[in-house]
Amino acid sequence: MIVFKTDRQKTEFADPNIDSRVRVILFAVSGYAEHTYQRDVEITEVFRTQEEQNDIYTVKALPEIAEQYKVHPWYSVHQFWRGVDFVMRGAHIEEVEAMEKWVNGNFVYTHLSVKTALEHNMGAGLHIHIQVDNDNVTEIKKVNISTNDTVGEI
Ligand SMILES: [Zn+2]
Repeated sequence: MIVFKTDRQKTEFADPNIDSRVRVILFAVSGYAEHTYQRDVEITEVFRTQEEQNDIYTVKALPEIAEQYKVHPWYSVHQFWRGVDFVMRGAHIEEVEAMEKWVNGNFVYTHLSVKTALEHNMGAGLHIHIQVDNDNVTEIKKVNISTNDTVGEI
């Protein structure tokens, strides 16, 4: 199931501004995590303000990243309601990497050089960042569950 870091993420995940494709992907991720790993998906970030973006990249980032940001600041998809971060508490690195691969294999970002799911290790642990394109449709492949699964009809 989907759980939330705080009430803020819960409220934002239900906000009409969120890109519904992100929500659909998270529902699929949650089902896959529960089915394959018996784990919950915890949403840790949905929306990000400009102030929070500045704080991340000028205060918390590595010095070389902060220098780049100060010269040419960039936006995050979180500022446009097109990104969600989640963790699977207690998950092994192999599970996180497999989840990232599963998402990218089934939900294809329209620019081939950009991925729908990106695993990154920020202070709080292994997160997966989910994002969708601005003006194109994220392609949804036929979703494959492992052939080792024995759940029958889905
Ligand atoms: Zn993110």
